[in-house]
Amino acid sequence: MPSKKYNTCSFCGRSERDVVMLLTGLNGYICNDCAEQAWNIVQDNLNVKEKGTRCMTEDDLKKLPKPHEIKDYLDQYVIGQDDAKRYLAVSVYNHYKRLAQKKDDDGVEIEKSNIIMVGSTGTGKTLLARTIARLLKVPFTIVDATVFTEAGYVGEDVESILSRLLQVADYDVEAAQRGIVFIDEIDKIARKSDNPSITRDVSGEGVQQGLLKLLEGSIVNVPPKGGRKHPDQDYIHVDTHNILFICGGAFDGIEKKIAQRLNTHVVGYRSVQNLQKIDSKDLMKYILPQDLKSFGLIPEIIGRLPVLTYLNPLDRKALRRILTEPKNSLVKQQIKLFRMDGIELTFAPEVLDYIVDKAVEYKLGARGLRSIMESIMIDAQFDAPSKCDSKLEITLDYAKRQVEAHQHLG
Ligand code: ADP
Repeated sequence: MPSKKYNTCSFCGRSERDVVMLLTGLNGYICNDCAEQAWNIVQDNLNVKEKGTRCMTEDDLKKLPKPHEIKDYLDQYVIGQDDAKRYLAVSVYNHYKRLAQKKDDDGVEIEKSNIIMVGSTGTGKTLLARTIARLLKVPFTIVDATVFTEAGYVGEDVESILSRLLQVADYDVEAAQRGIVFIDEIDKIARKSDNPSITRDVSGEGVQQGLLKLLEGSIVNVPPKGGRKHPDQDYIHVDTHNILFICGGAFDGIEKKIAQRLNTHVVGYRSVQNLQKIDSKDLMKYILPQDLKSFGLIPEIIGRLPVLTYLNPLDRKALRRILTEPKNSLVKQQIKLFRMDGIELTFAPEVLDYIVDKAVEYKLGARGLRSIMESIMIDAQFDAPSKCDSKLEITLDYAKRQVEAHQHLG
């Protein structure tokens, strides 16, 4: 007598004898365990979509700092850059309004306001983004656009941006989905010429294409540990609709493109008058999206970074203020370090001017201030805690000697 043939689950392959229940479909079967697992997966995905669309109430919005307050907070840490601060304050505030908007109440949907900041290195782009994230207490990560390459090439997939955000959010997907990502050096993935490339441009246009879906908002499969995607890996689904992307770049030489555009548009008598009004020393403030296009960003990327703002190069006055005024200025940090050893530290005012001179000479913007300060202070930091002095004044002579002794700076 032929033995009885048992039906098996089309998902896990177990026979009907080994499961509690086996449901029959048109062309297959599913056991109770697999049905339950499938239901969980569906719920998870629905949750991602639901939470992604609205995760803030109007009450939450009332608690958020207003643009004026955001700017006041930024002023405590970042010197100057008023235009950028105002743009950032408004866009961040609008971003959170967007999270609080009710769906379908009037058919008006507030769109995402990703930001792009243009300004030379060391002018405060990262500092602004970092300070805003601290104020809002949301997960924040900085990524460098240059590490990405088009999928399939050596380098990281753009999705790994989200892996880092997940890491800083302790894998709390919901928190990560409201986070801020700062993409630095976005100018380095500009395509090499203004014409679409015929040859492959794996680290330029390809990466820009990869970034598009992240910037505009989609549900992305994220490898939890970053790096390259791997077919056998478990992915975390992250919805990027409510992640605020702030991009920054130096866009070296963009002033030339701005000047070209201003010149070509200036024709005729009235325009000559306009031209006179143009401040040729500070062309950055006339930057428009089309200048980014001339530089090599693809129009789709520019379209997804609708808020464009610029940072001014830091002049001597600004550098001098940076040394002392921000809440955690370099001078305040040094004073605190010494105070912890019971030493009252002071700087002769000429020392601060000297540090600024050196920073200007090294052409590192505000970035140079720190290393100059370190080389002035290193020996004192080494010796002072073992001495019994209760006061220490840094004089100009001492500072000069220290900088000269640490020639590696130059
Ligand atoms: P980038 O524009 O290259 O992103 P950063 O924001 O990283 O520059 O600036 C480097 C460092 O220089 C900061 O950590 C900060 O200490 C200092 N700095 C730069 N710009 C400013 C500024 N406008 N106000 C205060 N500090 C600044």
